[in-house]
Amino acid sequence: MLIVAALVACSSPERETPRAAGHPGEPRGPGAGHPGPPGGPPGGPGGPPGSAPRTTPPEPADPATFSAGGAGGPNILWVTTDTVSAGHLAPWGGRVPLPTLEGLGAVRVEQAYSNFPETALSHWSMFTGVLPEVHGNVPPNGMSRYSGPSIAELAHARGYATAAFIGGVTLKDESCGLSRGFDVYDDDLAAGADHRSAPEMVALAQRWIATQKGPWFAWVHVFDAHLPYTPTDPSRFDKDYAGTLDGTEAKLRPFANGASTPPERDLAHVTALYDAEIAEVDAALQPLFGSLHGDEIVVVNADHGESFAHNYLFNHRAVLWDDVLHVPLYVKAPGLKPGTVSGMVGLVDLLPTVVDLAGWHATAPFMGVSRVSVLRGEGGGATKLWARTDPWMPLLPGEAGARFAELTPTSRMIRELDGTRCTYDLGSDPGELHGDCAGGEDRAWTEYNAAIQAMSRYQRAEVSRPAGERLTPGEMLEQLGYTDRRPGSAPPPPPPPPAGR
Ligand SMILES: [Zn+2]
Repeated sequence: MLIVAALVACSSPERETPRAAGHPGEPRGPGAGHPGPPGGPPGGPGGPPGSAPRTTPPEPADPATFSAGGAGGPNILWVTTDTVSAGHLAPWGGRVPLPTLEGLGAVRVEQAYSNFPETALSHWSMFTGVLPEVHGNVPPNGMSRYSGPSIAELAHARGYATAAFIGGVTLKDESCGLSRGFDVYDDDLAAGADHRSAPEMVALAQRWIATQKGPWFAWVHVFDAHLPYTPTDPSRFDKDYAGTLDGTEAKLRPFANGASTPPERDLAHVTALYDAEIAEVDAALQPLFGSLHGDEIVVVNADHGESFAHNYLFNHRAVLWDDVLHVPLYVKAPGLKPGTVSGMVGLVDLLPTVVDLAGWHATAPFMGVSRVSVLRGEGGGATKLWARTDPWMPLLPGEAGARFAELTPTSRMIRELDGTRCTYDLGSDPGELHGDCAGGEDRAWTEYNAAIQAMSRYQRAEVSRPAGERLTPGEMLEQLGYTDRRPGSAPPPPPPPPAGR
């Protein structure tokens, strides 16, 4: 049986969504979303912003794009833990112990990286094996323009029972359209709630798994580590804090918006709150893994991390530093020897890897590749990976365009909004603080665009929307709570009231 656990999130708030329900950086909520992918070649400006809940089911994959390769196979559990940075975790050198995940008997992949630092699109890449500019995930209406299959559609075509248990509002189906191929897509959050707790998600999944008679695929999404940072035990990693800052969205929004930077002691406390949430997520997963039979394939990973440095705090969608891209990844499967492996793996590689592990012999237009050899400790990691910020929605006011990065085992190249690119040598500069910056010809950018263009035949036409349903850029930014971080820019809007958890 196959079990996969991952850490994940979707994006896009609806027009009527109260700002209090939105992340300071990442748009969230039903209908909240991207303005839609550009109709032209990648790299161009996005279309006008807009959002409205989807009213029709997501369009399924075109059967002509894939073959399921047979029927049946091992059971698969995929857990995504949203917004968890690898660098905070003890196995990666951080302070958060992971007794549950370390006790799973899985392979721990030291170098796993997100290809896109937002929830919905990162999940889409995970579950389709293609990069965001191919699948699109047009959140204004919860659709994807990708005609290829998701893992749920492949599993369903093989006769699996399929179910998703969604912990965070940004992955509600009406926002992200990920329900394709799922028999059950449980995104039944209480009205106004932004998430359901990890223990609740585990209980729901356990109940469904226990009733299955044939092969099953279950996806469990756990949102607890996402802002706000409100652990049950706030003092877990900070026993003597005497200040007044806490992890609520209302308190942290001014900092997340870049309006100011908290004093060092307060920042340390907020980091401790985030770390405590992660520790509680690890503990909450124990019953889920404890009820397995041992022959499942299990995958556990995060969709992206969270930034606590580079003057970009408590957020993730606008930058491509390692604290945002470097994520935990555990994979357990029959035949895999527990331990730690090196070698770079992108989240876009996960679906082809699972297909390989499960022996499905399925074919689909993946951009990622199977990294089973990495899991076996036999090498074969990526020599380079690509990541990009959102090209369809401004990162911050005045920040048109998107950042792009090429990751290698020893370096990071980040292409800034103006085309300048800075390369960081991880050997001498692990904190990515002293880049070697240049302009001119950009080989990586050229290769990236060629790769996207080569997949364009799998893109359906963008769903058009009446102009009257679109928000103006100013309305969208106000709704999402964006503010300009640059010196001399306009003052940020006042913080919204606290968002209840
Ligand atoms: Zn996320």
